[in-house]
Amino acid sequence: MTGYFTTEAIVLGSIDYGESDRIVTFYTLEFGKLKGIAKGAKRSKKRFVNNLEPFSHIRLLFFQKQGRDLVMLEQADVVGRFDNLLFDIHKLAFGSYCLELLSEMTPEYQKNEKVFELLLKFLIMLDRGTNIKTAVRIFEMRLLSILGYHPHLDVCVVCKNNVMAEAGAHAHAPLPDTKLFFSSARSGILCPRCNGREKSLIPVSQGTIKFLMLAAKSALDKMDRIAMPDWAAEESERIIGDFIRYQLGKELKSKRFLNKIQAMGEGR
Ligand SMILES: [Zn+2]
Repeated sequence: MTGYFTTEAIVLGSIDYGESDRIVTFYTLEFGKLKGIAKGAKRSKKRFVNNLEPFSHIRLLFFQKQGRDLVMLEQADVVGRFDNLLFDIHKLAFGSYCLELLSEMTPEYQKNEKVFELLLKFLIMLDRGTNIKTAVRIFEMRLLSILGYHPHLDVCVVCKNNVMAEAGAHAHAPLPDTKLFFSSARSGILCPRCNGREKSLIPVSQGTIKFLMLAAKSALDKMDRIAMPDWAAEESERIIGDFIRYQLGKELKSKRFLNKIQAMGEGR
């Protein structure tokens, strides 16, 4: 297709290119992930103002020529701003991680309105909310689920027993919590009877798995009502972080910054 197109978009990342250009990656409502070049973006501040920075929610006008990888960015008008997010180092670190995760997991030119909706609602929530860690775990689970990568959490991947149903039988005696095991390679959980000879298993409690199952299917608007206790937040981060690393075959660059921020003991 060749021609001019407009779409709603969120900037995932942008880098300087040459003397005065910028290459920008977007997630758009109508075309999925897109990469474009903004000619003279550094020189002519007037044309794009600062609307090509990460997290900008814009209405984009671009020109596409058949066979070209990069579209030509013509105009970017602001639709919404996330100012709280930009001026809070924790929110910025968690948000940057989520943008990079989405960018790495989605192919170019594959429209997925659910991904766009998830990203937009997540950013609104991160901007206004206080429960950042929970929001990020919900974002990860929802994204994995929409893209078809979600791990199997209800049954043991070896014996197929429904480990969560067994959990229900002891609902009135929640402690001590049965330990399950998570395997990124097998994309799911193993029950205590099946963990014998497996390698690289991560112990995880039933409570955390229950939370992650809830996170994978919760309505986005209810994001702020789910609050994870610290132990569940830590366990979730460990297993989902390992799973994502396994799926991508690498560590995300923004994860290092995020870990540093969290290690400062100020992460919430
Ligand atoms: Zn089993």
